[in-house]
Amino acid sequence: MKGTVYKSTGSWYTVKSQQGDFYQCRIKGKFRIGGIKSTNPVAVGDHVAFKVETKGDETVGVIHKIESRDNYIIRKSVNLSKQTHIIAANIDVAFLLVTFNNPPTFTTFIDRFLITAEAYHVKAVLLFNKIDLYNEDELLEIKYLAALYREIGYDCIGISAKTGKNVDKVKALMQDKVSVFSGHSGTGKSTLVNIIEANLDLKTAKISEQHQQGQHTTTFAEMYDLSFGAQIIDTPGIRGFGVVEIDKEELGDYFPEFFELKQECKFNNCLHINEPQCAIKDALENQEIAWSRYKSYLQILEGEDDGYRKDIYKK
Ligand code: GDP
Ligand code: ZN
Repeated sequence: MKGTVYKSTGSWYTVKSQQGDFYQCRIKGKFRIGGIKSTNPVAVGDHVAFKVETKGDETVGVIHKIESRDNYIIRKSVNLSKQTHIIAANIDVAFLLVTFNNPPTFTTFIDRFLITAEAYHVKAVLLFNKIDLYNEDELLEIKYLAALYREIGYDCIGISAKTGKNVDKVKALMQDKVSVFSGHSGTGKSTLVNIIEANLDLKTAKISEQHQQGQHTTTFAEMYDLSFGAQIIDTPGIRGFGVVEIDKEELGDYFPEFFELKQECKFNNCLHINEPQCAIKDALENQEIAWSRYKSYLQILEGEDDGYRKDIYKK
């Protein structure tokens, strides 16, 4: 039988079959997918093949195959073991809730999220929430930001989780897809998920900041079916969407607007800092690349991760 993993406890996996029935499954044998070694070989979102075994009145599934993944998001534990934990697999869309204030979401945080999504090969969408709250000046700023990110190629939607404005557009992007929601605490994740589907009680929004800092405490993801034909993967781990380690030389690859330009740099290993005849610096001068994006690029390049982390965990 074939199915999708909806929940995992580490030793048991809840799998929904293509027929729509749920089975409690164990795994058989050793799996190593895509050459990564992780604490959990099977993750929520995985497409698996399993056999059903009946012993007495007990029915148990045994997973014997994992289909190759479109993508997956991981967390490296910060304790000594440095083990990789696969948080979830086969994510179609990662939404980031952005608020201009209450709480502020800085562009460096947005960019870090987008770069991570690019590195994971997950489509990212920015939701500018609480548009019912803002005055004209603030709305102009949001429009400017949305235009900036749209130009790069990201979908941006101004929404109000409170009034329901444009929530239909969010649902349209979720249709028949697997989504995750991220954003600072207070940006409106639970309010939005609630207006999308009542009675869904997600951890994403709930987990305490304190708890999240203890990253070695393993938190398992869970997938939910929504009534209009969509799935949400709920996991406290993707609040800040994880932190990927990216090589300095590779970083520019995850800025889509850098991509074509950097072929024109004099040096093919150009880091776009002080090198002569750098097409990225030229584009910056000509305002073809936004300063805020370049600033984020430099910050990540220089490893100023601390600000980012504080950003994530800040209440
Ligand atoms: P979470 O921490 O991301 O889950 O954020 P919540 O959903 O708990 O929302 C935080 C606060 O913002 C709550 O008081 C919500 O009522 C409020 N809120 C959420 N979305 C909106 C919105 O679109 N407009 C307004 N005015 N308030 C909102
Ligand atoms: Zn360059």
